Amino acid sequence: MARGSDTQDLAQLLSRRLESITSFLVMDVLEEAFALEREGQNVIHLEVGEPDFPTPACIVDAMNRAIAAGQTRYTHSMGIAELREAICERYRGRYGVEIEPDQVIVTSGTSPALLLALATLVEPGDEVILSDPGYACYPNFVELLGGRCVFFQVSETEGFQYDAAEIAKRITPRTKAIMVNSPANPTGAVIEAAALREIAALAPPVISDEIYHGLTYGIEAETMLRFTDRAFVLDGFSKRYAMTGWRLGYLVAPRPFVRPIQKLQQNLFICANSFAQWAGIAALREAEPDVERMRATYDERRRYLVPALRELGFGVGFEPRGAYYVLANARHLSGDSVALAREILHQAKVAVAPGVDFGSNAEGYLRFSYANSLANIEEGVARLRRHVESRRR
Ligand code: PMP
Repeated sequence: MARGSDTQDLAQLLSRRLESITSFLVMDVLEEAFALEREGQNVIHLEVGEPDFPTPACIVDAMNRAIAAGQTRYTHSMGIAELREAICERYRGRYGVEIEPDQVIVTSGTSPALLLALATLVEPGDEVILSDPGYACYPNFVELLGGRCVFFQVSETEGFQYDAAEIAKRITPRTKAIMVNSPANPTGAVIEAAALREIAALAPPVISDEIYHGLTYGIEAETMLRFTDRAFVLDGFSKRYAMTGWRLGYLVAPRPFVRPIQKLQQNLFICANSFAQWAGIAALREAEPDVERMRATYDERRRYLVPALRELGFGVGFEPRGAYYVLANARHLSGDSVALAREILHQAKVAVAPGVDFGSNAEGYLRFSYANSLANIEEGVARLRRHVESRRR
């Protein structure tokens, strides 16, 4: 095997495009937690945004049937017709929105769907308007394509709601898209319909990441497609069906973009996993009772965690009503969320996500995920309590 030093000179060849790409800090925390676990330490995971439930049995059964039936080859680049039809059915049934299978591109997760949407829009120097805080990976997609991120702030005092007027102020001739994420990662905010309607009425197209739809508590999330057909809607199976490792998602695109997106899909990815696609039909048509069971369980944990964090002194000045995150203000403990997250990981053995991962406006915050059992969350809170108390002494 070659020695490391033999490849050192290659480092200078690294594309400069990578210079602006940041690591996904949540993954860094997770990997640091794994290292502690390998040393035999017990860590409570409140950092990862991944369902702790197994994939519902009806979905696994459908995959097994698909493999047994030989569905193990490439599919149509846009996805199998039956799945695209089932996706359209979901929009009709759930939102009263009519879309056609020829507008749906099935992808290997929501992440490739975002790449495809942005790649058809963004040229070097073009601008994309994004919330701060927002999902940590969005800016990296934009920058990889040579685009420029223009941020608008959302704040705890406003319940992390989007303000269309603030977005409108940031539109320039170079704006190619407005990124919307509701329910939102990392805030758990569900954006009000009135704000979505106003954003839809602005000139640039909207890219709406609806991956947390179905995981809301006492409120329904609205699809952007209710307000405009000038939107790219991203959604996937990872979160609501507990299918993160299956890599299955989709994109609903305005018609002029479908063929260009299809060309990219053919070249970059060929198609999504074939048997996952067959299982996706079962998810859409049969797994609703499972989704409801998981949603109710997340809600129970949310109702425990939010007051528990407040009692520990963290600021949660609004009610997170979607996804499975609480973005809590920890500025009374530290202004440096990476240092604080590392301190809590190493001293309290609780893994949490540093707010700054999601934007400079969330520096001093920590994101707590309640995609973990109530027993583990309770243990995590007990450890945090001991840690906060020992800090006071
Ligand atoms: N969008 C958001 C807001 C997310 O939180 C995630 C997962 N962390 C993704 C997209 C990517 O999900 P997928 O597994 O479908 O690629």
